[in-house]
Amino acid sequence: MTQNAIEITALQKTYRGGRGEPEKHALNGVDLSIPAGSIFGLLGPNGAGKSTLINILAGLVIKTSGNVKIWGFDQDQNPRQSRAAIGVMPQELNLDPFFSPRGALEVQAGLYGVPRAQRRSDEILEMVGLADKADAYARTLSGGMRRRLLLGKALVHQPQVLVLDEPTAGVDIELRQMLWSNIRKLNQDRGMTVILTTHYLEEAEEMCDEIAIINQGNLIARDSTSNLLGQMDAKTLVIDPVSMPQTLPSADGITVEQRANGTLAFTYQSTKTTAEEVLSVVQSAQIHIRDVKTEQADLEDVFLKLTSSR
Ligand code: ADP
Ligand code: MG
Repeated sequence: MTQNAIEITALQKTYRGGRGEPEKHALNGVDLSIPAGSIFGLLGPNGAGKSTLINILAGLVIKTSGNVKIWGFDQDQNPRQSRAAIGVMPQELNLDPFFSPRGALEVQAGLYGVPRAQRRSDEILEMVGLADKADAYARTLSGGMRRRLLLGKALVHQPQVLVLDEPTAGVDIELRQMLWSNIRKLNQDRGMTVILTTHYLEEAEEMCDEIAIINQGNLIARDSTSNLLGQMDAKTLVIDPVSMPQTLPSADGITVEQRANGTLAFTYQSTKTTAEEVLSVVQSAQIHIRDVKTEQADLEDVFLKLTSSR
């Protein structure tokens, strides 16, 4: 058992340019460790290099330089073991239309050298909700079913590390829920390390223990989700007053703003000012409170702050 499921050092990828086009530096020396047992989010704007990084882990893209260790196995020195430790659900729906879900899982198991006696196609089909479609042609499956089959394919060799590239992009809410509950189960019940890319920041915020953000091929943040969110310590207390005061109250460290919907927004730094201090400002201004709520920064704010400042 290793501490880190993945260890990436100085990883670079330069795609050769096509006719007359310049080469493309997709990854500029990324160092990243991903702890075993975590649900890890890899975030970044379009073209940041997320899929490149994941496809290098999966062995689908050849790195230009740097080192990759998967479950302690160096990709160059122990290609077979490092490949066996990881299962990847790709971003693209690449399924052979002539295979049934069961057939596709069996072929995949064969590719990974899983002996017949150890294959668990039925159990996997059950898990991803395709048991009743086990023998249907892949081309008759809906987009959502195909995605679930891709998840199943990533699991046939029981990898320690599961990687999902934009698993819920463009899927409906029901399927998203199902994928998330599958992922949580794999992580909790089997201790599987899960790495996912997503551009739904809300989802990363809810699902991921730790997050890395990449931008233009560089790692620009890597921390626990709660620390990343803690970076933005602006909080807002929104008060619905019984009646609007003649003049807005003011106090050091608190910004007061009247909103179009007739509420008053008090914004403050939660590390410097307490909610109690804000409320006492409200009270001494003789504002009577009909209702109150709080707002705080979410991952989207952190993300925008980090990716727009470069
Ligand atoms: P992301 O998944 O974060 O959207 P990608 O890893 O797909 O980003 O792409 C990173 C950069 O590398 C982009 O500028 C993209 O255009 C470029 N790129 C990706 N694949 C190739 C390729 N096969 N050939 C040339 N450039 C590529
Ligand atoms: Mg991508």
